[in-house]
Amino acid sequence: MSLSRPVTVLRGVGDTLAVRLRALGVETIQDLLFLLPLRYEDRTRVVPLGELRAGQRAAVEGKVLLTEVVFRGRRQMLCKIADGSGFLTLRFFYFTAQQQTGLARGARIRCFGEARRGPMGLEIVHPEYRRIDPNAAQAPEEHLTPIYPGTEGVTQGRLRLLVGLALDQTGAGDIKDWLPPSVLADSRLPSLRDALLYVHRPPADAPVDLLLSGRHPAQRRLAFEELLAHQLSLKLLRQRIQSDPGWPLASNGALKQGLLAALPFRLTKGQRRALLEIESDLKESKPMLRLVQGDVGCGKTLVAALAATQAVQTGRQVALMAPTELLADQHAQNFRHWFEPLGVAVALLTGRQSGKARSAALQGIREGRAPIAVGTHALFQENVEFSALALVIVDEQHRFGVHQRLSLREKGASGGHQPHQLIMTATPIPRTLAMTAYADLDVSVIDELPPGRTPVKTVVLTEARRDEVVQRIRTACLEGRQAYWVCPLIDESEEMPFQAAEETAAALSVALPNLSVGLVHGRMTPKAKEGTMRRFKEGKLQLLVATTVIEVGVDVPNATLMVIENAERMGLAQLHQLRGRVGRGQHASSCLLLYRSPLSSLARQRLAVMRDTNDGFEVARRDLELRGPGELLGTRQTGLAQMRVADLLRDADLLPRVQIAAETLLRDWPLHVAPLVSRWVGHAEQYGRVG
Ligand code: ADP
Ligand code: MG
Repeated sequence: MSLSRPVTVLRGVGDTLAVRLRALGVETIQDLLFLLPLRYEDRTRVVPLGELRAGQRAAVEGKVLLTEVVFRGRRQMLCKIADGSGFLTLRFFYFTAQQQTGLARGARIRCFGEARRGPMGLEIVHPEYRRIDPNAAQAPEEHLTPIYPGTEGVTQGRLRLLVGLALDQTGAGDIKDWLPPSVLADSRLPSLRDALLYVHRPPADAPVDLLLSGRHPAQRRLAFEELLAHQLSLKLLRQRIQSDPGWPLASNGALKQGLLAALPFRLTKGQRRALLEIESDLKESKPMLRLVQGDVGCGKTLVAALAATQAVQTGRQVALMAPTELLADQHAQNFRHWFEPLGVAVALLTGRQSGKARSAALQGIREGRAPIAVGTHALFQENVEFSALALVIVDEQHRFGVHQRLSLREKGASGGHQPHQLIMTATPIPRTLAMTAYADLDVSVIDELPPGRTPVKTVVLTEARRDEVVQRIRTACLEGRQAYWVCPLIDESEEMPFQAAEETAAALSVALPNLSVGLVHGRMTPKAKEGTMRRFKEGKLQLLVATTVIEVGVDVPNATLMVIENAERMGLAQLHQLRGRVGRGQHASSCLLLYRSPLSSLARQRLAVMRDTNDGFEVARRDLELRGPGELLGTRQTGLAQMRVADLLRDADLLPRVQIAAETLLRDWPLHVAPLVSRWVGHAEQYGRVG
């Protein structure tokens, strides 16, 4: 059967089920075959009830002694089973009358679930179960049981059944192997069909541990192919963008010199190198696609401004997009400070500005009177028209989703031209991951901080020592420095963070009567936020209490003390970003991480990483080890989190070969690229017209 046929050709799949399956991305037979198990359960062994332990997930079997509906706080059905070696209670909070009859005394059932201690001995809540013939001996499951990604209204049993049907009804010739023979031979991995059969139905003698850890050759084969498809999708995207011309921007001149001359410092070597790479890209008629990666505080903003001069001097426009309003404001201020003396106007466009300010900004951008537009993602909404956009700069791209990054490319295109793109990120990720996540981008690395910075000293303290912390703030501020206090993250509630910040600010104002204390949080009006930030920048406020809105980009070099409450709740990347708000000037800075006991072992390790290193790459490497790449990168960052079998950390050793294979396919087997991408990356139009 052809793999492109809809799932509805399978017996028992009607419209309702088809709709539910679509939620899993499953529309065709091929989608079903590539719906891969997330994990396996070992039900090949039936555990005697007498051996069952609390916490164990196991298959058990027994005869029903009694099934009754009782009311203990809420209505529930209890079913007691025995197998001669022991007893077990099954507890159901949701059940039908039919289920109750099915579990009548004497019925023999096989069930699976996690045993836990209950009021009447061991129990399993809502086990998976089925009745078996009480007389015939029943073989246990032959295969490990695959567990598929779930969706509402489709049980695991149903999914297993459907995948089984799809496997049975597809012949060897139906499953096309898009990997060319040379790549297959190099990878020494099984054929696609063998791999699929194996992962859906591991044989009874399968090496369980290997399979459970995802390192079986069949799984590696699929992971290889998935990584390859992702890599290819990004390369296709790059090809597609670069198939349109960009605006060749003449090499840099007077405007750049003017800006440099006004700076009180010289560029670092890293900044100069990145700028050279950017400048040479911008001269080309091919649109630039470049990522500048550099740790917090290395001076990426200035590199962006210098890149902008090259577009502006040619009479074209630049858009600079920041992830938060706070950061957009700050960039607008910096850019105005740099550019207005040179006679270049800078427009600011955010989502929440007043109607009047907004229409003035829109008009300036449309008529080309504003060569530079700074803003949040509001810059790329429908009604924003540029007169001659030639360069798009995205700051702190990890805060934007991959989708935003891609839609911006669409937006920027006009008159058959693509704007050049400069992406800046402070989230350093290990090399192998960067190769994968940014396969569509060239990368420049700024690997040094401006001279004269002293590394931030990080101290981990229990919250009980709050008084000492307040004392340190007093001392720092008396010496003329400034401090941040970042308030705890409280649960998921949206209201809470700013309430906590308000309370903390009030309490600190009382504890520090001689200091002026400001407050910023996400719920304030842009104007109020901006006002507070400006006063903090000007040194009129000494202590700034904030929610994590100040996480990215904020730059106040005189601030030397960063206090982070409930640091145990935050991830490493966020902590590193927050810490990056200090240590930006001449004065020695500290970061105080306050935690509330008890600390989980993971939290303890994270705080230790922060204490032990200031190096963003090292933080990222440890983050990856502690959390795994899915969380590190997140869908929000790269779209890579939705990998079905591949795990960037576990399968990192495949990446170099994946890269080579990607090049081979693009060069020698171009017709295999699109089907491979659509098989794995799905129906993602944003990756380009791949079909
Ligand atoms: P980030 O890379 O985190 O975005 P910023 O662009 O905010 O860093 O720069 C951090 C601080 O360093 C700013 O105050 C900026 O003015 C300053 N800075 C940038 N380049 C240099 C340099 N070459 N020498 C000294 N200070 C610099
Ligand atoms: Mg920045």
